[in-house]
Amino acid sequence: MKIDYLTLFPEMFDGVLNHSILKRAQERELLQVNTVNFRDYSINKHNQVDDYPYGGGQGMVLKPEPVFNAMADLAVSDNTRIILMCPQGEPFTQRKAEELSHAEHIVFICGHYEGYDERIRTNLVTDEISIGDYVLTGGELPAMTMTDAIVRLIPGVLGNEQSHQDDSFSDGLLEFPQYTRPREFKGLTVPDVLLSGNHAHIEQWRHEQKLIRTYHKRPDLLESYPLTEQDKDFLEKYKLELKKE
Ligand code: SAM
Repeated sequence: MKIDYLTLFPEMFDGVLNHSILKRAQERELLQVNTVNFRDYSINKHNQVDDYPYGGGQGMVLKPEPVFNAMADLAVSDNTRIILMCPQGEPFTQRKAEELSHAEHIVFICGHYEGYDERIRTNLVTDEISIGDYVLTGGELPAMTMTDAIVRLIPGVLGNEQSHQDDSFSDGLLEFPQYTRPREFKGLTVPDVLLSGNHAHIEQWRHEQKLIRTYHKRPDLLESYPLTEQDKDFLEKYKLELKKE
């Protein structure tokens, strides 16, 4: 996968892209990254990339020319995903990360200031994505967040492929509780089933724990999860037990 970042702050990416899993992905030649400072594409003699909004109002707006010119210099194909980071965009989810992990080329356009000239949004991009219902100063942190979530799903990037398949959201539920050694810590013990060596029981317990966790922490996820009859029975019984307590 190749990722280009159009940004006014390329240095912000150094730390994140050069550590841990993202660094390893590059070393394994599964990921190639490139930052482009679109200030270099300004046609203004002061290298200005923003200007006052037509119609008046607070803040400055990113001008179209530097972003269009920077894009024109990138080798994009019909399959390139050109993603505008924007709080008004489609919410970023694990499903979207999975979809984008199959892309060969992604371009992130990172805004700053009050916003973009609308012609960037309407003429240049394939996707508009938000990482949550809050407003950040710029699109750099969202682009890095998305990069991390996407790249770890590329086959070969994580050591153990299974590890992301058990992650929260991968199958629509939250992950089950995890324990490691010691078996007892400050009088707190590990559930017996995990020490039983019975893999079928462990699988069943983990699935039930996922249902319980999701019910308590993110009941909204259960609305779109394809519950089996067995799952429904289990949750009904669990709710009855809760009422008794
Ligand atoms: N005035 C804009 C609005 O109300 O929609 C917000 C502009 S914000 C201060 C500057 C830039 O940060 C945005 O253009 C976008 O690139 C990025 N940004 C801020 N919050 C974001 C979010 N939740 N998701 C993705 N990008 C975000």
